[in-house]
Amino acid sequence: MEEKEVKQPATEQAPQTGEQGEGFGRRPAKFGNRQKRRPCAFCMNKSTLDYKDVNRLRKYLTQNGKIISRRQTGLCARHQREVTNAIKRARNMSLI
Ligand SMILES: [Zn+2]
Repeated sequence: MEEKEVKQPATEQAPQTGEQGEGFGRRPAKFGNRQKRRPCAFCMNKSTLDYKDVNRLRKYLTQNGKIISRRQTGLCARHQREVTNAIKRARNMSLI
């Protein structure tokens, strides 16, 4: 009786090379490391924002009318709050 060579069925999997999960963890390893922090635009100009100043308020809104976060605007906490309040006031007056 001949002994057949039993081949185990090759598992059909792609050979696992190192990279996998493309497009999942696409985040830079070090997020910090910023040294120069630009002062916020309102601190530099020492200007105040008015809710009637819609053109300037629009800089801090997305196209959908949402308020852009502080991380993206680069404002300091105080002025971001002023911007937020001005935007909300302008919304209330239906200027925006
Ligand atoms: Zn400021």
